[in-house]
Amino acid sequence: MPSLTDPLLVITDLDGSLLDHHTYSWQPAAPWLAKLKANDIPIVICSSKTTAEIVTLQTQLGLVGAPFIAENGAALQLDARWPNAQVSAGGFTGKDYTALRAVMTRLREAQGYKFFGFGDVTANEVAEWTGLSVKEAQLAKTRQASEAFIWRDTDDRLAAFAAELAAEDLAITEGGRFYHVMSRGSGKGAAVRWLLEQYRQHDGRRWQTLGLGDGPNDQSMLDAVNYAVIIRGYSKTPVVLSSAHPSIYRTQAYGPEGWVEGLNHFITEA
Ligand SMILES: [Mg+2]
Repeated sequence: MPSLTDPLLVITDLDGSLLDHHTYSWQPAAPWLAKLKANDIPIVICSSKTTAEIVTLQTQLGLVGAPFIAENGAALQLDARWPNAQVSAGGFTGKDYTALRAVMTRLREAQGYKFFGFGDVTANEVAEWTGLSVKEAQLAKTRQASEAFIWRDTDDRLAAFAAELAAEDLAITEGGRFYHVMSRGSGKGAAVRWLLEQYRQHDGRRWQTLGLGDGPNDQSMLDAVNYAVIIRGYSKTPVVLSSAHPSIYRTQAYGPEGWVEGLNHFITEA
């Protein structure tokens, strides 16, 4: 079990994990956030949200400058104090947003697929889809390397669309509300492994990792960490990790209460 004085990265999902699924509150986690910060333990947000959305949340959470993983792993930023902290999204995963949108619209024109991406609609429409404010929806639209979309066609044609995307080195992942197109081989787990490698190269310490998440899109991230906290969630699809995973804890509580439960379980405070 890690202690507060070990080199430890805490990697966390937002919605349904650090943030309450319904109210977006993180107040129950505030004391633990303060404790981690006081011990210089990086808190790495790892979310489907965009860089613009995460930077706004980092300000509210007091995590300005901490590394983060955005757009389900398609975009990433290192510790702001490091040289070259800004990682270009295209540089990390292959295709940037403009290139990936161009492929999607070309396939749609050729095959008549019925889907609506964030790039097809206004911030007002994204606000209606998500329940975000229009201002927040604008941040959700500032995408770097993945596209969120609603599918309005058959399952068979979704499979055909996925196959055509795969030929372009792109892949579809299913999130809570939307499907996402991103570069093949990217994802939360790949981003976490890459980030950890940067930490090891940066200072040569033996960094340990503790991850917290509540959904199927967190599986690859939780499989990539030493200590996995599966927060009780509302997803119908269960979160299943590798049978070889060294250390898994499933919480009783939901959201930020579950987040606290997981840290209490794994981190020794003495
Ligand atoms: Mg979640």
